[in-house]
Amino acid sequence: SRPSRISVQLHPYGEGRKLLLSRDVTALEQAETMRRDFVANVSHEIRTPLTVLTGFVETLQSLPLSAEERSRYLGLMARQAERMQGLVNDLLTLSRLEGSPIPGLGEWVGVGSLAAQCEADARALTESLGKGHTLVFGPAPALEVAGMATELLSAVSNLVGNAIRYTPAGGRIEVTWSGSAEAGLAFSVRDTGPGIEAEHLPRLTERFYRVDRSRSRETGGTGLGLAIVKHVVQRHGGELRMASTPGAGSTFGFQLPPARVRPAVTASRATLA
Ligand code: ADP
Repeated sequence: SRPSRISVQLHPYGEGRKLLLSRDVTALEQAETMRRDFVANVSHEIRTPLTVLTGFVETLQSLPLSAEERSRYLGLMARQAERMQGLVNDLLTLSRLEGSPIPGLGEWVGVGSLAAQCEADARALTESLGKGHTLVFGPAPALEVAGMATELLSAVSNLVGNAIRYTPAGGRIEVTWSGSAEAGLAFSVRDTGPGIEAEHLPRLTERFYRVDRSRSRETGGTGLGLAIVKHVVQRHGGELRMASTPGAGSTFGFQLPPARVRPAVTASRATLA
């Protein structure tokens, strides 16, 4: 770890006297370094697609192109614009997560509907990629979880989305839900993708940290997905878990505490009550 940084100042203090003020500024300086790194990263992430986009605009303006070529260039430009849009959306999500209060115990989200929406998102993504993945969805327990539906859906969809995007053609992705009012809720997604070396695992939730920059770019990632997931899970009192065997696949998941979980209120029970 880095040595502590102490700031020392001499202040005039009465007739001919001085007051010595010392302050530990280590944390302050670290926060400032992190802020500066973050701004540099964001700028870089925005500049790359912008440079590509500008290049295409120049080509379109200066070269006589066939209708076919034009439409190919426009398609490539649309992809860069979408990338920037995704990045800005993820940045806004992160900043909203940081600024808003922890979701209380007031809003209950059905695990069944969360699982159904997650499956619909996953099937749409798989179809659009056309890599012949096999998706397996386990049954969702009859539970409700206290929290924000949009946040929880973005967490599970991000994890399943990563599994789909990083797993090569023909791979298998398996989603499991389990739990009870006593044990809490557990979610996990297992893939047969490339896996991740152990040394990278602790750093994956850092903003813009990627194991393989070029692959992440290819797969359309912003580098912010797991940072968002970690935030959401922690805000709901849970813990993000990951395990991986390089060459065999990865498992990502989380556990939410019993305090945030209750049995689903079924229609018949609601009528009886
Ligand atoms: P990205 O937008 O790059 O996917 P994430 O924060 O979601 O950003 O993930 C960070 C990095 O973790 C990815 O760039 C990738 O290297 C790695 N990663 C995440 N999920 C998986 C997975 N299921 N299989 C292999 N690598 C993964």
